[in-house]
Amino acid sequence: MNNEVKIAYFSMEIGISNNIPTYSGGLGVLAGDTIKSGADLKIPMVAVTLLSKKGYFRQDIDSDGRQIEYPIVWDPSKFLIRLSRKIAVQIEGRDVYIQAWRYNVQSVTGGKVDVIYLDTDVEENTKEDREITAFLYGGDDRYRLKQEIVLGIGGVRMLHALGFHIKKYHMNEGHASLLTLELLLMYKRDIESVWDERWIWDIDAVRELCVFTTHTPIDAGHDRFSYDLVKKVMGEVIPLEQLKKLGGENHLNMTRLGLNLSNYVNGVAKKHGEVSKALFPGYEINAITNGVHSFTWTCEGMKQLYDKYIPGWANEPELFVRSEIIPDGELWEAHLQAKKDLIQYVNKSAGIDIKVDVLTFGFARRFTSYKRADLIFSDLDRLLTLCEKGEFQILYAGKAHPKDTPGKDIIKRIIDLSKKVNDKIKIVFLKDYNIEMALKLVSGVDVWLNTPLRPREASGTSGMKAAHNGVINFSVLDGWWIEGHIEGITGWSIGPKPTESSLTNINDAADADDLYYKLENIIIPMYYHDRNQWIKIMKNSIGKIAYYFNSHRMMRRYVTEAYLR
Ligand SMILES: *Cc1c(COP(=O)(O)O)cnc(C)c1O
Repeated sequence: MNNEVKIAYFSMEIGISNNIPTYSGGLGVLAGDTIKSGADLKIPMVAVTLLSKKGYFRQDIDSDGRQIEYPIVWDPSKFLIRLSRKIAVQIEGRDVYIQAWRYNVQSVTGGKVDVIYLDTDVEENTKEDREITAFLYGGDDRYRLKQEIVLGIGGVRMLHALGFHIKKYHMNEGHASLLTLELLLMYKRDIESVWDERWIWDIDAVRELCVFTTHTPIDAGHDRFSYDLVKKVMGEVIPLEQLKKLGGENHLNMTRLGLNLSNYVNGVAKKHGEVSKALFPGYEINAITNGVHSFTWTCEGMKQLYDKYIPGWANEPELFVRSEIIPDGELWEAHLQAKKDLIQYVNKSAGIDIKVDVLTFGFARRFTSYKRADLIFSDLDRLLTLCEKGEFQILYAGKAHPKDTPGKDIIKRIIDLSKKVNDKIKIVFLKDYNIEMALKLVSGVDVWLNTPLRPREASGTSGMKAAHNGVINFSVLDGWWIEGHIEGITGWSIGPKPTESSLTNINDAADADDLYYKLENIIIPMYYHDRNQWIKIMKNSIGKIAYYFNSHRMMRRYVTEAYLR
C-alpha cells in the first residue's frame, strides 16, 4: 500500500471518531470528514496528526456554572496500532524521539486511508519531552512550537521512514507549516550535488509539493513565534535570514510560511477567501467551501429514509437533489424520532423534563467570544415576551479553551440566565460536547442557531450537519451560510447582508433585533401553525444544502483544483 504515491494531509487535530479525543472543534472534525470522504472516494491519501494522549480536555460544570477541565484518559492501544518505527527531531539541541500509531479508515467502497498519530511518549525521551504530544492546544508558546516541530518536521520524516511516497503535502492550517522546512532541506541536499550554487534553496520545487488551507479570518488567530524562541527551540533548520524571508521579518508567522511555500492556497468559504486576501495582500488565495461527511452526520432514522427514497446517497450526496420525493409524513416521523431520542437523552443526562412537542433550538460549538452564544439574551424582557407566540426551548453545548476566560464567562452567563427564565423558557447546557453528542443535537432539534460576529466565522460546519437531518438553519450571514442561505427557502438569516469585512463593525443590537423579529413573526408561528411550509424548508435543507455542503463535493474540488495542479 505504501508504494502508491499519496497526498499527505497534515492537521494538528483530527476528529474522526468519538473514541479518539484528539480534536477540539470544527477544524478537527473537518479533518476527520476530509479523511472519510478521501477513503470513500478512494483518493490516495495518508493523514498525519498528533496523538494528544491526554486529549483536549473533559469538561465538567460546577454548581456556579463554571467550567472545570480534566485531562482525558484514553488508551490509544484500544483503537490504534502502534508501529515499531521511530524517528528523531532536534528540539532545544536534543534528539527527541517520535513513534507513531496507525488508524486505518476503511470505507464500504473499499477505499482506505491511514491516519498516523505522532507520539513522543517513548522511553528514550526525557520526562518533559514525553509530554510534547500530551495536550492538544495546551501549554505556552514554547510548548506549541515543540508540538509544531513534531507535527511538521517529524511528520515528514515519519512518512518517509514508513515508506510513503508523497506527491502533495496539504497543510490544514498553519500548525503544520514547518513541514516546508524539512522539504527545503531535502531539496537542498539533492541540488547541491548536481547544480550550481545559485539556488541554495529550491523554493519552487517545494511550492510544487505544497497546498495550504487557512481557517482563520483574523490576524491574531494565526500562530506566530518570536525568532528568539525559534532559535532556542528549533535551532537554525535553515539560516535565519532565509527563514525571515519566508515566514516574516519580525515573527515567524506560520500562515505566511505556508503561503510562501505553497503552490495552491485556499480559504474555507467564498467570503473567507476574500477576507484572507485582504489579510494577506499579494497572494493568490482561492476558496473551496467546506462540507461535512454525509454518512457520519446523518442520524439513523434519516439514513433509513434516504436508503428507501434516495438509494446511493451516502457516496453520491448529489442525489439529495431528489429530496422532494420523500413523503412529508415520513420525513416528519423520522425527524420526530430523532427529536424524541435527543430529548430522552437530555432529560436523562441533565435530570430535567423537557417536552418533545415544543419548538427546540440547538446551539453547540466551541465557546469563544466571537460565536456570541448569548446573543439571544441581549434583551431578556423581549425574549420572554416571545413565549406568548408559542413555547420554545434551547439546548446548548460546547467547551471553552481553558485559557479563554471570556468564553468561560459566556457559559456561566447562559447557565445563570437559564435559571432565571426557567419557568418560561427551558434552557439546558449539556456538558462535555463531543462528536457523538453533536450528532444527537444536529439531528434532534428543530432549528439550528448560529450567531457569530461577522466576518469571523471562516466557514462553520455544524449547520451543514443539521441540514443533513432536515433541521433548519437560522444563522448570521457569515461563512458557508452566505452561500447556502435563500431566505425562507433554505432557512432564515439573522441581521444584515454580509457586505462588511471590517472587524470593528460590531452589530449586536441590529442582529439581536432581527433575531427576535423573525422568531416572533416567522419561526414560532410557522412551527405551530404551518407544518407544510416547515416541511418544505426541511426538504430544501436536504435538497439544496446537504446536496452541496458535503465533504465528497469538497474533496473532489481539492483533487481537481489543488492536488492535481
Ligand atoms: C461540527 C462540530 C464543531 C463545529 O461547529 P461549528 O458550529 O461549525 O463551529 C465543533 N465541535 C464538534 C464536536 C463538532 O462536531
